[in-house]
Amino acid sequence: MNIILMGPPGAGKGTQAKNLVKKYGLTQISSGDLFRAAIAEENSYGVIANYFIKHGHLVPDDFTIQMMRERLAKKDWENGFILDGFPRTIIQARELESICREFGFQIDAIINLECDFENLKKRLAGRRTCKQCGTTYHVLFNPSKVAGVCDKCGGELYQRTDESEEAVAIRLNTYLHQTRPLIGYYTAKGSLININGDQSMEDVFEDIEKSLEVR
Ligand code: ADP
Ligand code: AMP
Repeated sequence: MNIILMGPPGAGKGTQAKNLVKKYGLTQISSGDLFRAAIAEENSYGVIANYFIKHGHLVPDDFTIQMMRERLAKKDWENGFILDGFPRTIIQARELESICREFGFQIDAIINLECDFENLKKRLAGRRTCKQCGTTYHVLFNPSKVAGVCDKCGGELYQRTDESEEAVAIRLNTYLHQTRPLIGYYTAKGSLININGDQSMEDVFEDIEKSLEVR
């Protein structure tokens, strides 16, 4: 089963992707995580991506598509994959379709997490991420047992550089103009599953599970 997880920044894509990995043994492929790893490695993708990410803008399509094409070419998943954060533009969605044709796989479900913008701002402001394993927490909604320390691996929790008030405002605006049109794109194809992302993490996952069962 191959899934696309869509939704605005902070909607819970990463959180729910981790649940899907646990339940269905899928492989999470997060474009944001790939960019952050590239930045940490200071490789060619990282140097270019860093500028766009820290200012809250999308990384240019050609560059993002090339990185995702290389990642998907590895075909290293056993039970399918979850695309978390890709595609984010119509151009990326079209390119993904041609990558799927070329590599001989299909997308089985496209899940869209819908969320109120005031909620998103609170979620992004309180998000903390593990430096070592990438697990995300929230200082209020999902705190780690010991402040600043990952429950899973003991790694240090940090706040992302694109989580300043200014960068968040740009990211939400970018979502509205460049990514939200994908909702119409996939709805027209009859393949979008809308999930209320404003619920508790557990209820969101229950709705996702149910939607995958009735597919
Ligand atoms: P995304 O990957 O879509 O940007 P995340 O999964 O990282 O979003 O979630 C953003 C923040 O909101 C994290 O701090 C996470 O712990 C928290 N969060 C995720 N889902 C919920 C939810 N249903 N209710 C409250 N907080 C949530
Ligand atoms: P995320 O971790 O999904 O919130 O992504 C963090 C940042 O990485 C985004 O704000 C963008 O700057 C960049 N990014 C991630 N995925 C994409 C994508 N599909 N297209 C363009 N930029 C992306």
